[in-house]
Amino acid sequence: MGRDKRSWAEPWKVKVVEPIKMTTLAEHRRALTEAGYNTFLLRSEDVYIDLLTDSGTNAMSDWQWAGMMMGDEAYAGSRNFYNLENTIREYYGFRHIVPTHQGRGAEHLLSQIMIKPGDVVPGNMYFTTTRLHQELAGATFVDVIVDEAHNPCDESPFKGNVDLGKMEDLIVKVGAKKIPYVCLAATVNMAGGQPVSMANAKALRELTAKHGIKIMMDATRAVENAYFIQQREPGYADKTVREILKEFCSYTDGCTMSGKKDPLVNIGGWLAINDETIFEEARNLVVVYEGLHTYGGMAGRDMEAMARGIVESVQDDHMRARVGQVEYLGNMLIEADVPIVRPIGGHAVYLDARAFYPQLTQDQFPAQTLAALLYEDAGVRAMERGIVSAGRDPKTGKHHYPKLELVRLTIPRRVYTQAHMDVTAESVIEVYENRKKATGLKMIYEPKYLRFFQARFEVI
Ligand SMILES: *Cc1c(COP(=O)(O)O)cnc(C)c1O
Repeated sequence: MGRDKRSWAEPWKVKVVEPIKMTTLAEHRRALTEAGYNTFLLRSEDVYIDLLTDSGTNAMSDWQWAGMMMGDEAYAGSRNFYNLENTIREYYGFRHIVPTHQGRGAEHLLSQIMIKPGDVVPGNMYFTTTRLHQELAGATFVDVIVDEAHNPCDESPFKGNVDLGKMEDLIVKVGAKKIPYVCLAATVNMAGGQPVSMANAKALRELTAKHGIKIMMDATRAVENAYFIQQREPGYADKTVREILKEFCSYTDGCTMSGKKDPLVNIGGWLAINDETIFEEARNLVVVYEGLHTYGGMAGRDMEAMARGIVESVQDDHMRARVGQVEYLGNMLIEADVPIVRPIGGHAVYLDARAFYPQLTQDQFPAQTLAALLYEDAGVRAMERGIVSAGRDPKTGKHHYPKLELVRLTIPRRVYTQAHMDVTAESVIEVYENRKKATGLKMIYEPKYLRFFQARFEVI
C-alpha cells in the first residue's frame, strides 16, 4: 500500500472522557413525542450520538484549556483580545477585527452597517441567520451559486462556486449601486459543505472590483475550504492549508466568523474588515449589541481559547483527520447505496431525504421526518436542512421550497471515535431499509423567526 493510501488517524490522543448515556428505543419514542418531532427540542441527555451540529461542539486541546487559565478579564483592553487580533491578522490576513459573541452577532453588525433598505445581497446559497440579518436590514437575498449545487448527485469538486454569469446578470439588472457586497460562503453549509475554488474566488474578485462591489466572506469553515483546495485544485497540492487560507482571504474584503466552527471553541465570533470607515462604524455599533470592542460578548479566556484554536485549526494533520472522519462515515453510506449528497462535504454527511421518501410531498416535511426516524432508531441526533429551515418568503408569506431536502449528520471536531461513526452508519442503513413505511409529518406550531429551531410536528 502506498504511504498516501494509508488511513487517516487523529493527531491527538484522549486525556479526559465525558460519559454519555446509553439510551433505549422506548426512551427515544417518549423523548421524540415530547419534543414535537423536532430534534432541536430534544434534551441532550436523551441523545446517544449527537450529530445535530458542529457548532460549538468542538473538543478543546490541553493547550487551549491551559489558555483558559490565562484569561485577562479586564473590562477594557484584555491582553487576550490583542492575542486574538494578532492571530486573526496572521492566519486570515484581515486588517481590523471586531469581536462578537458568535457569528450572527457579526452578521448583525455587518448587515446594519452595509445594507440600505432596497439593496440586494447576492450569495452562494443562503444561510439561515445570515439571510435573516440581511432581510432585517432591508435587503433581498439573491442566490448566485452554480446550478450543480442544487443537484445532490453531481460530483463536481467545487459545488460551492459562485456562478459568475448569474452574478453579472444581477449587476446588469439591479445596478452595482444596489449591491453593497457579495456574501461568499466557504464552504457552503446549505449545499452540503461544498467548497469554493481559488480560481472562482479570484474571478469573483476581478468581476466585483470592476463594479466597486465588496466581497464579504462567511468564513465559518474557510479552513476546511482551504483543505479541499489543497486536495482538489490543480497547483495547490504542495501548499499548506495555512498558505491557501491566507491567499483565499486576500480575494475578499472581510468576513463574519462563527468561532464555534473552524476555530475549535465552544462560543465566540468576530467581524473582520479591511475598510477603515466600515471598521470604525462596526467598532462603535458593537458596544450597543455585544460589548466593548475589545471583548464583544466574550470572556478574556474565551478569546484566548479561540486564538489558540485558530493556530491548531490550520494544521494540515488536523484537517486531514477532521475531513477524513466525515469521509469515513460518508463512504460507509455510499457503499450501502444510501442516497447522500456527493461529493462528501467538509463538516457533515447530508442524507438526501427526497430520495429516501419519494412517497412524501415537500409539505409533508421529508427531511424533518427522516431526522425524527433516525433519532428514534438509535438515539442519533441529526438536523433538518430542507423546507423547515428554508422558512417563508417575508413578502408573500409562502414557504420557500428549496430544491434540496436534506438531513445533516454533522461531525463535531475531535469528539467522536470511528466506532461512533460505525454505529451511526448502521442506524442510517436500517432507517433506509424501512423507508417505505414513513408517512410524513404535519407542522402544528410555527414560530415567526428561524422556525426550524422551535417548530413542533405530529405524525400524519
Ligand atoms: C453557524 C453559522 C453561522 C452563524 O454563526 P453562529 O455562531 O451560530 O451565530 C453563519 N454561517 C454559517 C455558514 C454557519 O454555519
